[in-house]
Amino acid sequence: MSGEAVLALDQGTSATKALVVRADGSVAAEAEVPVGVRTVGTGGVETDPEELWSSVVRAGTRAVAQSREQIGAVALANQGETVLAWRREDGSARSAAIGWQDRRASSVTERLESQRDEIRSVSGLELDPYFSAPKMAWLRPQVPDGTVITTTDSWLLHRLTGSYVTDAATASRTLLLDLDAGTWSDDLCGRFGVEAASLPRIVANTAVVGSTREFGAEVPVVGTAVDQQAALFAEACFGRGQAKCTYGTGAFLLTTLGATATRSRAGLVTCVAWRLGDTLTYCLDGQVYTAGSAVGWLVSLGILPSAADLDALAGPDTGRGGEEGSPVFVPALSGLGAPYWSPRARGAWSGLGLGTDRGALVRSVLEGIAANVAVVARAEADDLGSPVERLRADGGLVRSAVLMQAQADLLQVPVDVYATPHATALGAAALARIGLGEAQSPDDAVAAWKPVTTYTPSCGPTAAEHRLARWMHAAEAVAREAGSEWSSR
Ligand code: ADP
Repeated sequence: MSGEAVLALDQGTSATKALVVRADGSVAAEAEVPVGVRTVGTGGVETDPEELWSSVVRAGTRAVAQSREQIGAVALANQGETVLAWRREDGSARSAAIGWQDRRASSVTERLESQRDEIRSVSGLELDPYFSAPKMAWLRPQVPDGTVITTTDSWLLHRLTGSYVTDAATASRTLLLDLDAGTWSDDLCGRFGVEAASLPRIVANTAVVGSTREFGAEVPVVGTAVDQQAALFAEACFGRGQAKCTYGTGAFLLTTLGATATRSRAGLVTCVAWRLGDTLTYCLDGQVYTAGSAVGWLVSLGILPSAADLDALAGPDTGRGGEEGSPVFVPALSGLGAPYWSPRARGAWSGLGLGTDRGALVRSVLEGIAANVAVVARAEADDLGSPVERLRADGGLVRSAVLMQAQADLLQVPVDVYATPHATALGAAALARIGLGEAQSPDDAVAAWKPVTTYTPSCGPTAAEHRLARWMHAAEAVAREAGSEWSSR
């Protein structure tokens, strides 16, 4: 591979991270600018779009200034299902960015409940306010005529290049895509009251979408993807059944399927992993909406000084997580995703006693996140017909050894921690290399990597099963209380 460095931007929920990535995949510079997320009313989660845009510009500018590399292209990963209203004439934002965690579009999904099966069969997704289309339908009456409502990538790319596009993987998170065809579905658009003609053009994840002068000399913008799929690509999950989980604000377990968009029978969703040229690859996806945000919540309550103190407070794994009487935490602070699909579910602690200390509470939150991921992994195994053999892990929370150990224990498979916290940006940079013609295949584009740490199960299957059963019992109670029709599968 030859070529200049790529400025890879990872526009995430809590921050924009910018990397300058050399042609060999090494990182020449990195910068991060936080983005404020505010909660509004009941279930609202918003970001100021101008803050989001300025975080992209500032992080990118800082990373370029720090590195001495010649920048040859800009790549962009986006946070997925977050939407905003804006004007194409001048790129001005006309609403807050409605975050992927926002639950206020439950009113829309409840209205369409009787159409759930048809919607799933075309889109591969569950009818849930997490995805973009319910948010678009909810937002539409509140914004001026003449605005478009899109995911954040289209707006950012418009500001960078003047284009009006979205990539196939991001489009597959909207509930508006015909998953098999890879094109907007008139049928789905009709159901959500979205005008198909107003939607951005869908491009390959390797497409050159335009050029920008935002970070210095004019360079192409190429390599665009939704963050989870970018990380799946970076972690070289190219074969059927290869899986990674990103532990950030939420936890997202994706498993590569291949060329066929097999629909889940176990309560997961199917979406586009990436489109290279005209070729679509699909993946299964299961999500735990509240992971890092549950840790942030513990900090805001004063239970935990900071995320860096997680392991010190949770203490060494003594196997307490499985004991009767130890607390169980269901991290449903923004509803429950796969396989429960209970947007109105709320978090719960059970098993509290007078002897429950802060350490036990903190440990139960980490165990609860790991258990929720393990339940999703089981569903993926059901769909694939075989269990996941090992899990690749990335994201801010992989720094918690307690969480990673709990994950290996509950899954009963090794967990390989990705070597850098930058999987998403590195995935976007690798897609850019293909788009620029500097790499001929995914294997060629992604640098070989070795896990920085591998966690192997420290308990046996019986103990793991017991711990998981306790958690599932609590989660099912939470889903039932929220009125979900979910029943044990
Ligand atoms: P996102 O991309 O969703 O914004 P990140 O992957 O950057 O999220 O992860 C952020 C999360 O990482 C925070 O919510 C926090 O809980 C966790 N985190 C940050 N620092 C540490 C640490 N030292 N140890 C464990 N977890 C941490």
